[in-house]
Formats: sequence, C-alpha cells, structure tokens
Amino acid sequence: MTKQEIVQGLRTLGLKQGDIVLLHSSLYSLGHVEGGPEAVIDAFLEAIGKEGTLLVPVFGDLGILTTTLKNRPGAVVSPCPVGTVAALGPAAEELCRDHWKPESCHGEGTPFKRLADKGGYVCLMGVDQDRNTSLHGIEAELRLAYLGSTSREFTTPEGETVKKTWKYYPGPHRDFISFDHVLKERGIMKQLRIGNSQVRLIDAKGMWECGMELGAADPAFILCDNPGCGDCVRQRAALARDFFAHEDFKLTASSRLAGRYVPEMVEKCQAAGVTFLELDFVQGVPAASLKAEKLAAVVKELADGGIGVSAIRAFAAPNKAEDFAAKVKAAGIPGVILPLPASGPAAEAARAAGLSVNFFNVALTSAAANAALKRRLEKGGDYGICFNPANFVMAGERAFGVYRTGRFIKTMRQLDVNDILPDGTVTPLARGGAEIKEMISIARCASFPGFMCLAGGIQTTQDLKTMAADFRRLIENM
Ligand SMILES: [Zn+2]
Repeated sequence: MTKQEIVQGLRTLGLKQGDIVLLHSSLYSLGHVEGGPEAVIDAFLEAIGKEGTLLVPVFGDLGILTTTLKNRPGAVVSPCPVGTVAALGPAAEELCRDHWKPESCHGEGTPFKRLADKGGYVCLMGVDQDRNTSLHGIEAELRLAYLGSTSREFTTPEGETVKKTWKYYPGPHRDFISFDHVLKERGIMKQLRIGNSQVRLIDAKGMWECGMELGAADPAFILCDNPGCGDCVRQRAALARDFFAHEDFKLTASSRLAGRYVPEMVEKCQAAGVTFLELDFVQGVPAASLKAEKLAAVVKELADGGIGVSAIRAFAAPNKAEDFAAKVKAAGIPGVILPLPASGPAAEAARAAGLSVNFFNVALTSAAANAALKRRLEKGGDYGICFNPANFVMAGERAFGVYRTGRFIKTMRQLDVNDILPDGTVTPLARGGAEIKEMISIARCASFPGFMCLAGGIQTTQDLKTMAADFRRLIENM
C-alpha cells in the first residue's frame, strides 16, 4: 500500500477538502503500508486538505495511529479524562473546547456531537461499529435507563483540580454491530476495501438522527437479544423497570406466574423489571396455608432479592381468621386479598391487624359482587375491590362493561391483569373476552394509583417474561 492508494480510496468514499473526520482504526488491517503510520495519517490529511480536521480517540487500546496524530505539531487533546480525543486542523480547538463540562462525555457539547453538527464524518478503518464511540453519544442523548456513570479527579486546562461524575456512561455489552446494516441501507454509510481494510465512512449527522429516531421508538434498539447475554438481559430489565416507573399504577405479579421456588421468582422478576409479587402459591402450595415461619422466610428471601410483596391472596376464606391475620402481619405483608362473599371473619381480623383488605369476585356477577361488598362496608371498615376481569367473564359479563356500570369505580384498589374466553380457556392479554386493554386504559385515564397484578387470580401457561412484555406492549400501543 502507498499513501496515494489510501488517498484515492478515501476520495472514492467521498471524503473531500475541508471535511472533519473522526478516525477509528486498526493499522494492522491495511496490510503493509509504505511509510507506516505516518503515511496513513498523511493520507487522511491530504484527502481533507489544510481546511479539514482529523480526530482520533485517545482511550481504550491506543493505536499507533493515535499516537502518531497526537504527536504532530498543532495537535489538540480534548480536556476530558474520559472519552478523550486528539484533533489536528483548523476546527480542532472548537471541537475539543470544554469537553469535560457537559453531563455526558459523549453527547451534546462534546467533540462527538459537535463534529456531527458541523457535517463531519466518522471513519472506521478495519474496525466495526463496536468501536464507534459516537454511538455512546446517541445512547447518552437518549438518556437510556440502563446507562451508568463514571467519576474522575483531574486537572482542567485552567489548572483547577476537579472531581466530576459523567452521567449516561456506557454499560458492558451492546449490539452496535447490528446498527451497521441500518446505516448502509439508509445511505448514511459507504464502505470500500482499501488494501485489506474494509473502510466505512459515515455521515455523522445522519447517524445521530437515525440513532435518535430508532432509540425513541425502542430504547432497547442497540441491545443484543441473546438470552445468554447477562449484560443485555440486565440492561433490558433496567429499561422495563424504568418504563413501569413512569406509570401511576404499581406493578405486581402472581408469585406462581413468576416461578415455583423463591430464587426462580427473584430471577424472573428482575429480568422482567417487576419489583413486587403477590403471594398466591409458593412451591405449589397456597401461600395462605404456609406456616408463619415459612411465610416470613419467603418474604425475607424476596426482599433480599429486591422484590417487595404487594399482598397475599387466599382463594378460600382462611378458617383460623386471627392466626391468618397474625402471620401475614408478622411476615411484613401489607395487605390481603380475599374471595367474595365468604371471608367476613378473615377480613375483620386482617383489618383489626392494620392490614389493607381487598376482595375479589369469584364466579359472582358484578351486581352480586357489588351487593356483597356493600354489605361488608355497611358493617364498617375500609374495604376495596380487587377487580378480576377473568372471573367476571366466567360469570357471563365483560370487564369493561362491568366497569361502565360504575359499580366499582370508587372501590377498585387493584386490577388483576388477565384474560380468558367464556369457555374458561385462559388466553394471552387482549386475546380473550375480558376487555383487559380497555380496563387498563380507563384505569390509566384516572391515574389509578393501585396495583395491577399480572396473572392475578388465575393460572396461565404463559410465563412472567412473556406476560410482562405483552402488558408493556398493550400500554405502548395506547
Ligand atoms: Zn448483549
């Protein structure tokens, strides 16, 4: 390879006099170059001319090209201890100025975004999108919930020692490589072989716009979908948690939906971004029938895994009402969910113990359930409804139709998120007769502050991951 062959290749790719270009490279990829790294840098400087500016990253595994550029007279190194770049050319000073000041070291106000705003390019020479640092900048500007932060103590160009934390700092694994074909298909990137090196020239502004658009539509757009990639599983979970955290309702899920044993429940909850569980069944046994010590141990083990307990649900009225209330209270569970109509003593004992008490309808029509709740309320005490769409379907009604009668508008404290066909077949959400999408929507219209419980009160063949994803999709499509 000669310098002129490289210059010719860069011109073919579209690089011209006056351009700004950030180069990520592997010298090794070119094969033998006459004149070595100096010739490669000279080739870039010749292609962009005296009016052009060349930048290279000064972090990670420093290539020889980086060192070569840094050592050229007039080179500027950006004053930021993370995401540092070196630049040579008339725009160098302007691109690098105050690099340390913005909240992120890759986004707005950094050389990465500035060069895009000025119509510059990113060139990948013998390396792939994995090395394209500007993609971190796009993640940072999207303020993606899985990003972390990093801190350094350093000396500013003004000689001041500063300790600073940069937000939206990149996490472990990302699937930048999959972004490559998008850039190519949209005409934002050109690729050409120079020597043995596959060289990519990317219009930086187009790349930022494309990334911002895809990221706004799907914050996980740049994560891999390999279920064996623990990094991306965790990062997707952070996105899901963030999504649900923006809602007024609180999200919980049936413990039997989450798993049979507690460690499995914790793992499944964490991956789905679910931070509460409702105890219905544990190890195949009704949670309400667990001994006091066992119940307390389950709650503690969940708490150690970062999972709170929203309530305990009994499917039949507990026969020793006081014992039941006492063990629920002792375990630190805030509330009980009991079947209508036959739970009077358990409800009163739970209320006396300071627990919140909600009833769910079992095979009662809405009129009968409402009448049963009224009788309870007339006897005194603060009781609410855990609205169970599937059971209303089984009683020959539809959830939203029930809600529109106005019977439970004031008393609904929890919405069980489930769906079912009138013949009793449990279906995925919004695939049965429960009008669950309508119920979720109307509840959100009133900023419903209670719990929505995935698979509350029913047994389904779906798993927590699928159901949480379906639930999120329903909301995203509202
Ligand atoms: Zn991954």
